[in-house]
Amino acid sequence: MACQNPGCIKQIDYQRVAHYARKRYVDGIATIVLLCAARAEDEKKLIVLASLLDIDDDKFRELMPSCNHKCQRRMFGLRDRLRTMVEAERCRCRAA
Ligand SMILES: [Zn+2]
Repeated sequence: MACQNPGCIKQIDYQRVAHYARKRYVDGIATIVLLCAARAEDEKKLIVLASLLDIDDDKFRELMPSCNHKCQRRMFGLRDRLRTMVEAERCRCRAA
């Protein structure tokens, strides 16, 4: 069955979340600062999502109760991909 959640992860573009994850975790800008600078609602959603990298699986599931298992797996995949990207970029920053 297709997911009924209007805010589903399937609609989220990895590159757009990655942009904010980089600002948050590589540049070290606080989530609240990013939120204040955001103009559009969907921009805020991306920022919140990008700042969830440190949240555990159970909390993640609570945040999207209407998503099915397929979506949740996809979301964990996205989070892991972001986490790997952030760690790689942090290493690059330290090496420079
Ligand atoms: Zn979904």
